[in-house]
Amino acid sequence: MTTMRRVLVTGGAGFIGSHLCERLLGEGADVLCVDNYFTGSKANIAHLMGNPHFEIMRHDVTFPLYVEVDEIYNLACPASPVHYQYDPVQTTKTSVHGAINMLGLAKRVGAKIFQASTSEVYGDPKVHPQPESYWGHTNPIGPRACYDEGKRCAETLFFDYRRQHNLTIKVARIFNTYGPKMHPNDGRVVSNFIVQALQNEPVTIYGDGSQTRSFCYVDDLVEAFLRLMRLEDDFSGPMNLGNPGEFTILELAEKTIAAIGSKSKIVRKPLPADDPVQRQPDISLARQKLDWEPKIALDEGLGKTIDYFDRLLRAPRG
Ligand code: NAD
Ligand code: UDP
Ligand code: UDP
Repeated sequence: MTTMRRVLVTGGAGFIGSHLCERLLGEGADVLCVDNYFTGSKANIAHLMGNPHFEIMRHDVTFPLYVEVDEIYNLACPASPVHYQYDPVQTTKTSVHGAINMLGLAKRVGAKIFQASTSEVYGDPKVHPQPESYWGHTNPIGPRACYDEGKRCAETLFFDYRRQHNLTIKVARIFNTYGPKMHPNDGRVVSNFIVQALQNEPVTIYGDGSQTRSFCYVDDLVEAFLRLMRLEDDFSGPMNLGNPGEFTILELAEKTIAAIGSKSKIVRKPLPADDPVQRQPDISLARQKLDWEPKIALDEGLGKTIDYFDRLLRAPRG
């Protein structure tokens, strides 16, 4: 018999999931990491493998999963546009069938369940900054729809399981998050720019670089996950989690090049279809409910992330 809290993290070998597994172990939880390694990697969790309270299962969440746990963090889903558009049908299945299976599991064992939703539910937003009350502006048939609409449907399922089966749910809408353990070929903007600048290769700006994003460092985000999960059971969200510091993509490129002291030049590439023009979280709800706000500003977080990729790129390939 164990009295430890048993926590399932789906997508636990991914960027955010691996940080979450580490934090949960540090808090004395017994952690089961489930991942199909589509975008995650064992290298992200290799340092946890010797811990007797850490367990890994190779599994695809679109198939049923029968385990006994007290809490579930559902993070399984590719998050980079390049990767979620590679096999869009599988992306929708992961969000929708994955949610159904994890909700079915939560229902059977009476577990509290957290959903990693996204600012993409707001689509290309016409309200700025975005509060949780905004219903969004998504294109249901475009190239981003497999992710956006998949995540929107997952939110629907979470709230219906709450209403219909009385589940305890926590839905977080995560805004662009970055940090160590992003995959060097992840394709998202922060890792692309850092990897390009470290190698003195052209830094690729899509469009004119005037589009904005608000970047949250991963440690700040994971802290908010834990606070949201600890909150009273009748608060379900959705809750925006992110850093309200908003930057143009051009500013991000210039900051990255300057921080590295790189010789890289900026080059322009076509803007992908349906690329949101602006994005900034209104985090009033998180401030009020969690007594939380991000502590790590972009310059500091970029520095930590640059150090990580610098070590990674210098390491001998094994
Ligand atoms: P990531 O791609 O690094 O991690 C996703 C993980 O899920 C990977 O380890 C991948 O192998 C795994 N996975 C994918 N499909 C799976 C499946 N069918 N079965 C089991 N595992 C599967 O991305 P991330 O940035 O760590 O994102 C984690 C979660 O947070 C995702 O749900 C994502 O949508 C959400 N999110 C992230 C951001 C961000 O900026 N990082 C923003 C909004 C939402
Ligand atoms: N499920 C699962 N693990 C469990 C319980 C259920 O993966 O421990 C899956 C199961 O495959 C089912 C889905 O979750 O299809 C939804 O379960 P629910 O009980 O809500 O619906 P039903 O079984 O009636 O379809
Ligand atoms: N972007 C870019 N160059 C890159 C990768 C991305 O200019 O090498 C842009 C992209 O078009 C978008 C923004 O950076 O406007 C953020 O892209 P990302 O894929 O990181 O996430 P998104 O918020 O679009 O899901």
